[in-house]
Amino acid sequence: MKFQDIVIGGGASGIASAILLARKGRRVAVLEAQDRALKKVLASGNGRCNLSNVGVCADRYNNPDFVRSVLDAFDGRLVSFFASAGLELRQEDGRIYPYSFCSGNVVNALLDAADKAGAVLRCGVKVMRIDKKDNGFAVVTTDGVYIGENVVFATGSNATSGVDSLALLAPLGHKCTKRLAAISYIPCTSVKGASGVRARAALTLFDGDRKVFCRQGELLFKDKALSGILAFEASSVYSRLMRRGIKCAGAIDFVPDKSAGEVEAFFALSDADCVQALCAYLHKSLAAAVAKRAGTEGKARDNAAILARTLKNYTLGFDGVCDIKNAQVVCGGLELTDFDPRTMESTKVKGLYATGEALDVDGECGGYNLHWAWASAYAAARAIAGEINV
Ligand SMILES: Cc1cc2nc3c(=O)[nH]c(=O)nc-3n(C[C@H](O)[C@H](O)[C@H](O)COP(=O)(O)OP(=O)(O)OC[C@H]3O[C@@H](n4cnc5c(N)ncnc54)[C@H](O)[C@@H]3O)c2cc1C
Repeated sequence: MKFQDIVIGGGASGIASAILLARKGRRVAVLEAQDRALKKVLASGNGRCNLSNVGVCADRYNNPDFVRSVLDAFDGRLVSFFASAGLELRQEDGRIYPYSFCSGNVVNALLDAADKAGAVLRCGVKVMRIDKKDNGFAVVTTDGVYIGENVVFATGSNATSGVDSLALLAPLGHKCTKRLAAISYIPCTSVKGASGVRARAALTLFDGDRKVFCRQGELLFKDKALSGILAFEASSVYSRLMRRGIKCAGAIDFVPDKSAGEVEAFFALSDADCVQALCAYLHKSLAAAVAKRAGTEGKARDNAAILARTLKNYTLGFDGVCDIKNAQVVCGGLELTDFDPRTMESTKVKGLYATGEALDVDGECGGYNLHWAWASAYAAARAIAGEINV
């Protein structure tokens, strides 16, 4: 089976690469190990597919210097790329979605665009080995050997339903950095008895005395974890530190829009007991957790200062990282020093390109990872096929 370009992985970046390459008239095969392509796109954004963000910039990623030129080259092309597949986009709070808010529509539109462009998609075909030949590659799969001039390695990560195939590139001299769950809940048992309760709060992470993350948003408390959008946002920073062997601590400010003095003054006038007084700010399960942490008994007015301090600075200890199978994204992947940041081509093996999450690139929660998938696919396709108008 001979093709010009063999794309390994039918995820976001693999299918986008295939569309762009096939539209240039190239013979492209996409080999996908699972029974269907674009499974993560279908699951993304709680079924709404948060496919990009108006705030996309290099600093939203773990390796800004590597992603910068790729993001710049794709700048202004997202809307036309999706329009060319028949999709309109819209934004909500900076997050970009398909206008229909329906990830299934994105999957159908992209698969249709790949098919119309002439790309061949083979699902249930797992790549087992990649052999470099004089003029290209022999890709050994569960469905025989595919021959191609170029390989786009778009195998993503093993987050949730994915498969980790980075070892396929080891014989070609590529190394990868350690992978950890990135966008996920953070294991934590510091807030007990409030499972299922949500609160709008500020979360700060510390590396020693240094603040490494401080943002406001929604937290969802679980018995053994801190979850919700805010925890997901923090988890990227947290995991990147853990990967370097740095264990950070955290603190919640349950009333970020009030000073400790204002809160203390409120408690000083209260005739209620501590838990009841804390219910002025918190769900009662959280109020009980804060009162317990403050070690208070009796009236709030007799404990005003310690209640205010605890409410403003509820310290947290974390318990490792969550299992990759429970994460949306991983941090870690193919070492970036082995890839050209403008073309995604391997500096070790000519004709080998890598895109998306296979590389050691992870973005924050909010559409940045799918944006990286589209942008890196565009960079690789352009390097292979020449200028692409999208
Ligand atoms: C539940 C969930 C929700 C998410 N929500 C969002 C969101 O709202 N916004 C956002 O930006 N990001 C989100 N993400 C992250 C985003 O989906 C990924 O970063 C993105 O899909 C990565 O694309 P990719 O093409 O690099 O890899 P993947 O999507 O992981 O695709 C890789 C493909 O390669 C295949 N493969 C692997 N090995 C082989 C092999 N040996 N042979 C053949 N095929 C192989 C895999 O089966 C897979 O289909 C979410 C992820 C999950 C899991």
